[in-house]
Amino acid sequence: MTTTVTPPVRTVRPPRKARSNGQWALDGREPLNDNEAFKQDGSPLAVRDRIVNIYGPGGYETIAPDDLNGRFRWWGLYTQRKQGIDGGRTARLDASELSDRYFLQRVRLDGGSLSREQLRVLGSVSNDFARGTADITDRQNIQLHWVEIGSVPELWQRLESVGLTTIEGCGDTPRGFLVSPVAGIAKDEVIDPTPLARAIKDTYLGDPELANLPRKFKTAITGSPSLDILHEINDISFVGVNHPELGPGYDLWVAGALSTAPRLGQRLGTFVTPEDALDVWYGVIRIFRDYGYRRLRNKARLKFLMAEWGPERFRQVLQDDYLGRALPDGPAPEEPSGDSDHIGVHEQKDGRFWVGAKPPVGRLSGDVLLGLADLAGRVGSDRVRTTPLQNLLLLDVPADRVDDAVAGLRELGLDPDPGAFTRSTLACTGLEFCKFAIVETKKLAARVSAELDARLADTDLERRITLTVNGCPNSCARIQIADIGLKGQIITVDGEQVPGFQVHLGGGLATDGRAEAGLGRTVRGLKVPASGLTDYVERLVRRYLDQRVPEE
Ligand code: SF4
Repeated sequence: MTTTVTPPVRTVRPPRKARSNGQWALDGREPLNDNEAFKQDGSPLAVRDRIVNIYGPGGYETIAPDDLNGRFRWWGLYTQRKQGIDGGRTARLDASELSDRYFLQRVRLDGGSLSREQLRVLGSVSNDFARGTADITDRQNIQLHWVEIGSVPELWQRLESVGLTTIEGCGDTPRGFLVSPVAGIAKDEVIDPTPLARAIKDTYLGDPELANLPRKFKTAITGSPSLDILHEINDISFVGVNHPELGPGYDLWVAGALSTAPRLGQRLGTFVTPEDALDVWYGVIRIFRDYGYRRLRNKARLKFLMAEWGPERFRQVLQDDYLGRALPDGPAPEEPSGDSDHIGVHEQKDGRFWVGAKPPVGRLSGDVLLGLADLAGRVGSDRVRTTPLQNLLLLDVPADRVDDAVAGLRELGLDPDPGAFTRSTLACTGLEFCKFAIVETKKLAARVSAELDARLADTDLERRITLTVNGCPNSCARIQIADIGLKGQIITVDGEQVPGFQVHLGGGLATDGRAEAGLGRTVRGLKVPASGLTDYVERLVRRYLDQRVPEE
């Protein structure tokens, strides 16, 4: 007799699929959240027609919510913060309760120069449609406030008539590029980045294939040895270097970003020739589009993919799958030289001069823009540039007009020789207009930096101390890369809730005179009320000067 033994039945479970990150190339395009859904549900760029033909003529009440809260950003429009809501209520209210019927309008410049004609148009639209507001942003853009939807079609028509645009000013797009403010004019530049910036802009701005990225994508390009475009904190940076055999070109940096989980960009170790640079930009942005995480918006920037892949794998994928060729190895940028803020009078390579001046905390106005156009005309200039440190440069001034240019800038409140703290203080938009803000920033930073200049005039600082004032943890004015970075929050002082800041100390980029870039650290429990900020910074600076070791 034979006995049949039945083997025990084992349940074989399929391997558990890791939760998808929403990477298009691996997981398909099924939208995993509301943002991804509205981006796929009609091209965000197509909202332009509705703004011009429906919402502009029809008014605020006609705007569809997905357009208002989502797609408008693809044309540089955000609703601004409702006036009178204090920062303590920011976290308790939803976006619609915080939003005003007025808009912030970002005009992108991509490091480009503003001609006198463009300055006049910007000044006039600021006065006609934006209550005279105009701020230089930390990405060299100009931002207007108080814009009503009914004004937008004419505002755009006037900007576009002189070659200015708001396309992809915000949104999950290739945002306005940082380009060296002294591109093409600095005597010491390694390579003029103007042709590359122009080629990217002309070829890919508004390309629908690149208008639905996982999040924003920031580009920076410089050929200046002063390393003036914060290359460590952009999604892609081209930094001018000289290759010993191949000549001038670019060192490539990828996936830097600040915000709440800051990471410095990584060098891929490749040399990018001027001829290859456009393809390389297009390759990197498509890697981000295809492999970037789309499940959670706070994990969607390119830095999170880089954290998974590392620079070697990133380079391999770029070369094998997106370029179809290997890139040569190349040198790192040299130690930075020269001031990256470009303030003061400097001779250009053509023998004329640029004059760099500081509008305190980047604030201009319609009248200042108009005055600047007149001044440029009087001193023989037709180019003004903005900088990533919220400064302005008047270009191409002949030697015999430099004194007039300096005097004229001063009359406009644009100081070509500002005090050390006014010069090195940045402030984000803050409570005045920003829906995310917890504290006021611009007026405070302007007052505090002026007070510090007066109080610390007796001190001997070899290098300027950078101070950044941010209205919330989003770090638009770069909390983590300042000597003193301030993150706005409500703090408790003597049992009372007051506006104040969490303090980060010791951050900086290579351009700030440091051996290498580093992120500032929060000092545990160190918070300072806004009302005591000047006293705090003065104490800190004096203690640093007293106690530092010689090479510090
Ligand atoms: Fe607004 Fe915060 Fe950015 Fe300041 S840091 S502009 S408050 S989001």
